[in-house]
Amino acid sequence: MRFHTATHLLCALVPHPVNGCSITAGYARLDFHMVEPLDKEALTSGIARLVAEAHPVRHRWISEAELDANPGLVRSMSVQPPRTGTGEGQVRVLEIDGVDLQPCGGTHVTNTAEIGRVVVTKIEKKSAMTRRVVLGFADSTAGA
Ligand SMILES: [Zn+2]
Repeated sequence: MRFHTATHLLCALVPHPVNGCSITAGYARLDFHMVEPLDKEALTSGIARLVAEAHPVRHRWISEAELDANPGLVRSMSVQPPRTGTGEGQVRVLEIDGVDLQPCGGTHVTNTAEIGRVVVTKIEKKSAMTRRVVLGFADSTAGA
């Protein structure tokens, strides 16, 4: 939950489409479709700032029509929001006050402050068009 919410903060900091994501108990990994280099320290301090600012995290439902009118809401290239198929359904979105809004059916903490100390442990150039960012908890990487 903490990692998952942290990936939303990361998405908010990196304005590029996500084309891969993997979350385990020990780390979270996101692949961004982009060519520009990313700065590990800048992302780590960006996440720390959003955590320190203690933004409320909430879920709400919007209509599929509203979603279609705002295609920018869909951040992920591979994960489309669940739909009812009728065009009249509701889509669950996650809103981090003033930071991020995107369709997500996952579970989240209720305030970014609960994420705690998360650091970017690694940034890899996976391919010409993909940058992979790995997140870890600061307590498990102490001294590293
Ligand atoms: Zn989520």
